[in-house]
Amino acid sequence: MSECYQKVKSELQQMKAPGDAVETEASEEQLSPALQSSVPADVPTSRRDISRSGINGRSRSKSRSKADGKQVSDMKSDNLREKATNRVSNEQHLQVKGTGKILRSKCAANGHVESCPGQTDGKCEDRGREDGSKVVKKRRTVTVDISKAKTSLEALKLSIRELKWKEFPMGRRTACDIYWHGVSFHDTENIVSGQVNKFPGMIEMLRKINLSRAVRTMQELFPEEYNFYPRSWILPEEYQLFSTQVRLLKDNESTLKPTFIVKPDSGSQGDGIYLIRDPADLRVISGSQIKQAVVQEYIQKPLLIDKLKFDIRLYVLVRSLDPLEIYIAKEGLSRFCTEPYQEPCQKNLSHVFMHLTNYSLNVHSGNFVHSDSCSTGSKRTFSSILYRLASKGVDIKKVWSDIIALVIKTVIALVPELKVYYQADIPPGKPGPTCFQILGFDILLMKNLKPFLLEVNANPSMRIEHEQEVSAGVFEYVPSPVDEEVKVGVIRDTLRLMDPAQRKQHITSNMGAGSPEDAIVVEAGSDEKEGLADSLPSLCLKQVFPKYTKQFNYLRVVERIAAIFLRFLGVKGNMRLGPTGFRTFIRNCKLSSSSFSMASVDILYIDITRRWAGTLPDSREAGMCLQAFIEAFFYLAARRFKALPLREQVSSLLEVCEMSLEGQGHSEKPRPHRTHAHANLTSAHSSALPMLNSPALMRRHQDHLRHHPLQLSAKGNTDN
Ligand code: ADP
Repeated sequence: MSECYQKVKSELQQMKAPGDAVETEASEEQLSPALQSSVPADVPTSRRDISRSGINGRSRSKSRSKADGKQVSDMKSDNLREKATNRVSNEQHLQVKGTGKILRSKCAANGHVESCPGQTDGKCEDRGREDGSKVVKKRRTVTVDISKAKTSLEALKLSIRELKWKEFPMGRRTACDIYWHGVSFHDTENIVSGQVNKFPGMIEMLRKINLSRAVRTMQELFPEEYNFYPRSWILPEEYQLFSTQVRLLKDNESTLKPTFIVKPDSGSQGDGIYLIRDPADLRVISGSQIKQAVVQEYIQKPLLIDKLKFDIRLYVLVRSLDPLEIYIAKEGLSRFCTEPYQEPCQKNLSHVFMHLTNYSLNVHSGNFVHSDSCSTGSKRTFSSILYRLASKGVDIKKVWSDIIALVIKTVIALVPELKVYYQADIPPGKPGPTCFQILGFDILLMKNLKPFLLEVNANPSMRIEHEQEVSAGVFEYVPSPVDEEVKVGVIRDTLRLMDPAQRKQHITSNMGAGSPEDAIVVEAGSDEKEGLADSLPSLCLKQVFPKYTKQFNYLRVVERIAAIFLRFLGVKGNMRLGPTGFRTFIRNCKLSSSSFSMASVDILYIDITRRWAGTLPDSREAGMCLQAFIEAFFYLAARRFKALPLREQVSSLLEVCEMSLEGQGHSEKPRPHRTHAHANLTSAHSSALPMLNSPALMRRHQDHLRHHPLQLSAKGNTDN
């Protein structure tokens, strides 16, 4: 190890651990210093060469599966034991401070059931207290249903074992504290309590088109803040716009040779992705179907290491939507291409091993290097990259703080629609679980170190094995130390954060148990109870929100629009607003006037809803979706506050609406809408609203681009 490397390492080691910073630092810190002071601290610990573990990958794999076999039979006997216990006592007792009263905890709505009776193992131990009151000390093991974990199973089992929690590989008849799903919220139906590791709607929201739409809405309001996402067009609806803009760009600057990357909407792992330099090369049609895709500005000057392009996979935990809580894993993965990078030219456009960093593609290139070390090979830890950059004098704190900002802003863009999905699946007041989710952020660093968001994965691979070609054409899964190092930590610490005992205090305050004296004694988290706190490493997940609320809260404008939308949805379980709901919104917010009659309101509703219905081919429900409502809201804002810039127009209208709605109770909420109601409204009326006759979507995008013209040469691809 070189002297310079040693110096960087010891400097980094002296930095404060981010995990500690979360507890101690005030949230009012200014973004850069705050983020920068806490960011790369744990980098050194994970930089150790994990091959040091000295366990031969293959034999470890074997012994692991042996252990798993034993566990299955353990689980069976545990299940029997558990059934017997549950027959005896199906209720968990909680001591009421001061009164000596014992509360039988109840399953409250929406997952306030972490203290739910059926979830204990019933191993209670009574002890007397000095003051004579009876303390019921619970020894409660957290239970995890892992029957739907799919490819994350191996890492999940290791995590649960480290925590000494209890796994249920075949599911459980009674409720579990945590349900670990491999794909979606709906992997297990009818969960009424506990916590599920997926949010409803996350998969849908993170499809490439929806992510692009959500970010674009934010770009319209906050262009500077959201310039970390490459310019994108949605196909097929924006094909013409894309063609026209590229033509104009080339006409204006003939030397420019922009490249674009085309990504199928629901694709993953690089499937179906290709590069083009001319709109004519778009493969829009597949058979008789028009392909849904996103075409995106290609970042031509990425940061290279060893002459190779690489990207960063960061794990982000959304612990809760309301209140918004976001954590970022301090360690991530860097996935390398396997062919030296060259800027795109007609000749190399099809070289996937040069342009696409997907592991799933590059692993099949003859050049892929498997390594047991975190800092070499085709998949490395992100911290090893940071070390390398730091040793070259790069300000890695700034890189981290930019990445944290990118993550928070992206989640803020997703939250409004996620809340709509959430309310549809888990209506307030009805029993249901709470949700959390680990997301995989794919980020590309440009040569000038600016991070760009490529995509967000709802189901990032949690596999801790990799595919290896053991003989010609024969592939086998062998343990991957780099994956294990990163992913087991992420899952284990996600579980620690979701430990029901950790959350009890919050739950208690939400139970409306009465006077403060009635507060239920709050248990320590399971870690502490089991004496695990010392043996476990410090959390590898760093809280970034609400920690940095002050710096980012001003961006949560669309969420306020979504709150109004949700209020007027009317029928629980719906995701679309009917015409009656829209009218009631206008009426209750006092937005109609002599120059904007209710007839015009209806036309506005029809015009926008119809257009959006055309862009969402898979829509199951009739009515106005949130995106359409946002468009209507922007229109109303522009109409009312003509002189202001868009962001202020929207904020001003929000204030008007929120003020009008303040104090309005449920009685003012709209009656259930009839889906056929808008059939009465004839399209002939649309001439009353000339502004809306042209496709509004196109107009919005064009307006946006007028203010922020396509600057491929200047933006995104500079090499500073
Ligand atoms: P998928 O879900 O199929 O993996 P991605 O959006 O992650 O799709 O793209 C696949 C790969 O293509 C990325 O890992 C990255 O290497 C490359 N890539 C994607 N978008 C861009 C872009 N705008 N500029 C440069 N490279 C990109």
